[in-house]
Amino acid sequence: MKYLQLFFPALFCTTLFSAAFAQDAPHSHRLSRAIHFPHISGYKTLSTDLHQHTVFSDGSVWPDIRVQEALKDGIDVISLTEHLEYQPHKDDIPHPDRNRSYLIAQQEAKDHDLMVIKGAEITRSMPPGHCNAVFIDNPNLILAEDSLAPFAAAAAQKGFVFWNHPNWTAQRKDGLATLTPFHEELIQKGWLHGIEVVNEHTFSDEALQIALDKNLTIMGTSDIHGLIDWMFTVPEGGHRPVTLVFAKDKTPAAVKEGLMDRRTVVFYRDMLIGREAWVKPLIEASITVDTAFYQGKSQVLTLRLRNNSSCAFTLQNRSDYTLHNTGDMVTLPAMSTTNMEVKTRSNMRSVSLDFEVLNATTAPGMHPVVNWQAQIVQ
Ligand code: ZN
Repeated sequence: MKYLQLFFPALFCTTLFSAAFAQDAPHSHRLSRAIHFPHISGYKTLSTDLHQHTVFSDGSVWPDIRVQEALKDGIDVISLTEHLEYQPHKDDIPHPDRNRSYLIAQQEAKDHDLMVIKGAEITRSMPPGHCNAVFIDNPNLILAEDSLAPFAAAAAQKGFVFWNHPNWTAQRKDGLATLTPFHEELIQKGWLHGIEVVNEHTFSDEALQIALDKNLTIMGTSDIHGLIDWMFTVPEGGHRPVTLVFAKDKTPAAVKEGLMDRRTVVFYRDMLIGREAWVKPLIEASITVDTAFYQGKSQVLTLRLRNNSSCAFTLQNRSDYTLHNTGDMVTLPAMSTTNMEVKTRSNMRSVSLDFEVLNATTAPGMHPVVNWQAQIVQ
C-alpha cells in the first residue's frame, strides 16, 4: 500500500464561527449537473469524453446534440468517434466523407468554450477489437482493409490511439481484458497509447493492470449512442464517465500532450481511477480543511472539510483517534462542506490524521491513504 501525504498548511481562516457550524450535518450544494474538478499545481484539470457516436455511425442523435450535452455537463473536450467500418444508417444518411460528424459538431461548438477533436473508431473483431484514434487529421485515410493499416495510418497522422472496452462481453465472454500478441505488437510499434478502464457502465480491474504493466494511458469514456441523460440517469444525480486530463494549457495540443504523457484520472460513478501520481494531487486539490477548532472547553476537535469537486468521497479512518459524530467511515458529498469530530484526548495545537480514500483506485484493490495536518484555531 502506497501512502499519499496531503498537507494543508495555512488553510485555516481565523474568522469567528458560529455554534451552528459544529452542528452541521453533511449536506450537498450540488447546484448543477456540470462536472467540476479543481486544477492542480502546474496543470489545468480538463474533462474529456473521447468516445461518442451519432447517426453518422450507429448512434441515435445528430452531432449538435452531443455538443449541447457536453455544454450542459461542463465538459472541456469531446470527440465523435464514428465506426469507420460500421455504418448502419448509411442508406438514410450517406456518409462517404467520415469528417461530416466532426464538421457539424464543430459548427455547433464554435461559439462555445468546448473543444471538438477529430476522431474515429477502428472497428474490428478481437484481436484487436475496437480502438479509437483521436487527434487525427483525416479519418477517411484511416479506413483500410488490412489489420495493421488503420493503425499505421493513425500513427502517420500522429493520432492518440486507445483500446476500447477490452472487457466487452461480445468480444470477451468472461469480461476479462486480456492482452494479445497483436496488442503487444501495436504497443511495441508505438501505435497504441491508451486503454479504456471504464466504458459506459463497466469498469475493468484487468484493463487497469494492463495500463500499469504496459505504460498505457488510463481512459474512461461514455461510448454514448443514445442520450447521456437517459443512459447515465443525470436527472437523478448520475454522471457520465469522463477522463480528466492534466494539461499545461487549455488547447488541443496540450490535451494531446497530457494524454500521450499518461496524465489522466477517470471519474466514474463517484470513483477516481488513475496512477497515484495524478490521483494524489487531484484529491489534495479537491478536499481542503476550512478550519479546525475545539468545541467549547472539550477535547473534541471539529474539522471542517470542503469538497470542491463533483466526486463524493468515502473515507475510512486510519488514525489513532476515534470520531465523535460518526463511525470509522466519513462521506464527503460533492461540492459541500462536512464537519468531522475527532476525539484528540487533549487540547492540541495541531493534529495529523490519516484516511484511506475508498472510492479512489490506483491499482486493482489499492486505495490511497491521505494525511491531513491541521493547525487548530486557539
Ligand atoms: Zn464505440
